Amino acid sequence: MSVDHLPREQLRALQSRKLGAQIERLRSNPFYKARLANIASKGSPLDALKSIEPIDKHQLLTDQNAEPPYGQRLNVPKRDVAMTHTTAGTSGLGQEIHGLTWRDVEAAGYLSSFAFRWAGLRYGDPAAFNVGFSNSSGGNAMLRGIQAVGNTPYLIAQAGFEERLSILAKADPVGMYGTPSAINGLLRTARDIGFDIRRNLPSLKFLLTSAEPFPIEWALRMEEAWGARLFEDYGATQSASSICASCCERGAVVDGQRGHMHLFEWSFVFEILDPETREPVRDGEWGELFITTLDKEASPLLRFGTRDRVKYTGTRCGCGRELMCIESGSITRYDDMMKIKGQNVWPADMEKALFGLAEVREFSGEVAIGPKGRDELYLRVALTERGEALEKRAADDIRAAFKAQFNVSPVLTFVDVTELPQWTTPEKKSRRFVDTRQKGLAQ
Ligand SMILES: [Zn+2]
Repeated sequence: MSVDHLPREQLRALQSRKLGAQIERLRSNPFYKARLANIASKGSPLDALKSIEPIDKHQLLTDQNAEPPYGQRLNVPKRDVAMTHTTAGTSGLGQEIHGLTWRDVEAAGYLSSFAFRWAGLRYGDPAAFNVGFSNSSGGNAMLRGIQAVGNTPYLIAQAGFEERLSILAKADPVGMYGTPSAINGLLRTARDIGFDIRRNLPSLKFLLTSAEPFPIEWALRMEEAWGARLFEDYGATQSASSICASCCERGAVVDGQRGHMHLFEWSFVFEILDPETREPVRDGEWGELFITTLDKEASPLLRFGTRDRVKYTGTRCGCGRELMCIESGSITRYDDMMKIKGQNVWPADMEKALFGLAEVREFSGEVAIGPKGRDELYLRVALTERGEALEKRAADDIRAAFKAQFNVSPVLTFVDVTELPQWTTPEKKSRRFVDTRQKGLAQ
């Protein structure tokens, strides 16, 4: 039986065995020693895990600043580090550095291959890959994921969008990985230059995406436009630099609704905890994802708090797997929350509301101090077409959606799409909302 199909009880036994060995390996590690001092060697390691104080990004950065480059948590001799991955540093706190042994590198590829296999990639199928080379774990893990299925990926991220389309037409891939911004950007370019996607890419069966949340309406539009099914994966540098969750064969959209991703529990222990109480959330509730690696050699982690806000959707799926699931397309960051006029609002939810309207093509938002000295949400929106009637209808739709969902009335301006930032570079995460209130208040 393949490891992803283990019944829940056997899965828990496997986790327990691996975790017990991991804890023993870390007892003499200077970073973990004190954290594990009071953990009993007897009893279930899975129970013991709950008493370990979670680790956050600040602690990892403090550790590596005290002992560069990998920190005291490195659990192999430095000469055994075969590869180094760094986090994006978008939080403004600094970049984490994680080491990998060759075994870690191979394991990351093997784990990541599940996402491609579930999406439908088979040995010999061409697959296109939209991420450029860097020290980021995502690009490396996914590339190795394609290779682990037995394929040579077509690397296209180095090219401009028009050239990518021409490479795609020659390669006729079965699948393509790209962030939502990249998939969106390619489609936009295709329309601008009259490139018929369905005719030019007859073999395309799936699009695999990650890194940004997306509205369900966007997912449906992409499936229709590309003539391919959409799948999502999730991974982090802290999850052994690999993909650690992915949609199964059922996809990111199931019967017109959001599907889910299965967490790769055979190689990690995942906890989804209420950020206030640190208690596990129930089926259908939102919580922070905590990751414990079970197989990572060089930079293992116990109970790392990702700050990723995920919706837990239980352990049942029509595919028969019994892995924990999280909702597809809706992961956001706890750190991204904005308080606008006293309301807690996540930029991703506002993006969802705007891209959910078929007439909206692109937008940018700014939370700033308005003329009355109060915070205001300013939205600059580009529609699919210009025209008074469409603008009037769009304005009504946007105002109604924002009032109902966020209890916020935005100040709206309609602009041409060329006046807005273009989020078509797949290597950069899109940032459509900015908060300039601090600056406004200082004036
Ligand atoms: Zn499934």
